Amino acid sequence: MKRELSGIGMTSQRTRARMIERLRADGIRDERVLAAMAAVPRHIFVEEALASRAYEDMALPIGLKQTISQPFVVARMIELLAAGRELGKTLEIGAGCGYQAAVLAQMAKDVYAVERLAPLLDKARANLRHLRLFNVRLKHADGNLGLAEAAPFDTIILAAAAGSVPQALLGQLAVGGRMILPLGGAAQSLCLIERSARGYSEIRLEAVHFVPLVAGVD
Ligand code: SAH
Repeated sequence: MKRELSGIGMTSQRTRARMIERLRADGIRDERVLAAMAAVPRHIFVEEALASRAYEDMALPIGLKQTISQPFVVARMIELLAAGRELGKTLEIGAGCGYQAAVLAQMAKDVYAVERLAPLLDKARANLRHLRLFNVRLKHADGNLGLAEAAPFDTIILAAAAGSVPQALLGQLAVGGRMILPLGGAAQSLCLIERSARGYSEIRLEAVHFVPLVAGVD
């Protein structure tokens, strides 16, 4: 049974508004990002038993040992990607249940999202349809290879940690484009990459904890 968008009773709208205030207090400044986070009902994306915790600032399990990303980290990554620009054509690697794709879909006209686990992709598809977000194209594929058929991308965001930057993704980043990913194994940090006509530049940012980027599809 699908929960209604009005959600877990009357509290959903209020708890979501509180989440936005917390994001603001924690340093998210971009009103476009805050509005996008406010527009997506996160409780739709988690199991019913966890719905009451959907607006806490934490990762939650979504099955198959995967997690829905922490709201602050979703907001922070998108804020870095959108600073001083529009997201443009966007690729997400690791769609999971589709939460971050739904947030991206509020800010970008075209979103492509790939996921290697078919059951999660099915969930993402159902969730995005439920929210009537038709500007996200989902694909069952290994994100290490990017999505050549739709490249180049103005923005690429990884929701799983890579040991090193996947070469295919660098190639599929448009000139003027930006990519962000969690990089590392046991100790991970965010890595922001920009491509200009002269080449690539890279900045390392704060420590994060993501599930690993895995090769192949299941
Ligand atoms: N974007 C999700 C987070 C999902 S967790 C959210 O909004 O909450 C990260 C996801 O990356 C998992 O679902 C995992 O299966 C997926 N993943 C890991 N390696 C991958 C790969 N090589 N290609 C595509 N997806 C991958």
